[in-house]
Amino acid sequence: HYQPKVTLWGDGTWRLNSAEALVRWQHPRLGFISPDSFIPLAEKTGLVHQLTRYVLDDALKQVAEWQRMGMDSSVAVNLSPLLLGRPNLPDEFAELAQAHGVEARRLIIELTESAAMQDAARSTEVLTRFRVKGFGLSLDDFGTGYSSLVHLHRLPFNELKIDKSFVLEIGENPESEAIVKSIIGLGHSLGLKVCAEGVESEAAMRQLDALGCDYFQGYHISKPVPSTDLIDMFANG
Ligand code: C2E
Ligand code: CA
Ligand code: CA
Repeated sequence: HYQPKVTLWGDGTWRLNSAEALVRWQHPRLGFISPDSFIPLAEKTGLVHQLTRYVLDDALKQVAEWQRMGMDSSVAVNLSPLLLGRPNLPDEFAELAQAHGVEARRLIIELTESAAMQDAARSTEVLTRFRVKGFGLSLDDFGTGYSSLVHLHRLPFNELKIDKSFVLEIGENPESEAIVKSIIGLGHSLGLKVCAEGVESEAAMRQLDALGCDYFQGYHISKPVPSTDLIDMFANG
């Protein structure tokens, strides 16, 4: 499925900026299985590389299709920290993008803050090579992973995604609001774009907009949906 990330315009309408690929498993007997259950299994059994290639291949196919439909959008994929140990991953991604005729800047790679900080030296190397190739890099679940500010400054990210646990409490919990405000300020002073995930209401979106947040993602805008639904929502404006 794909979940839109939007920018807000002065007149209160929004425009599609990109869409995040969120993998789904519809099991014939067990029904819907959440990625929170099967991604860890894929990681444990050595299948996460193949799974990521599958998701990436579909994401690149979709973003090429969106462009044919006149949608000026990028696509984001989530990266398991285990894959940071594969030095040729950036080349692999670049080859797949080229095979689909998709420019590197149309692909954003999301990595969680805790994953990026676990082994910052190794992350820096692989992530820098992604950036050199022109891919976007987004630091996911930000605010939950104990970043050192030195690493944050050195790692080559161009976007921070504020973790939904803080965003969900906007309008209810002054401490969460203070954290959101600080993350937006920190991100902007480091020259990064800031995205809020978990935007569930118009009120939260307005408050985030007033704080200077750049991109919004959440059920208020849309749940993750099949690509055809995304096209219905966003093609031709
Ligand atoms: P994530 O990357 O932090 O994705 C955000 C999760 O929040 C998604 O859950 C999404 O459906 C949900 N969400 C979006 N908007 C809202 C909202 O407004 N309110 C609330 N309460 N939730 C919202 P999902 O799809 O179940 O994915 C869970 C996690 O599984 C993802 O967290 C990501 O870490 C992982 N994942 C999903 N697809 C992939 C993949 O292809 N590869 C890897 N490595 N991980 C994946
Ligand atoms: Ca993500
Ligand atoms: Ca997230």
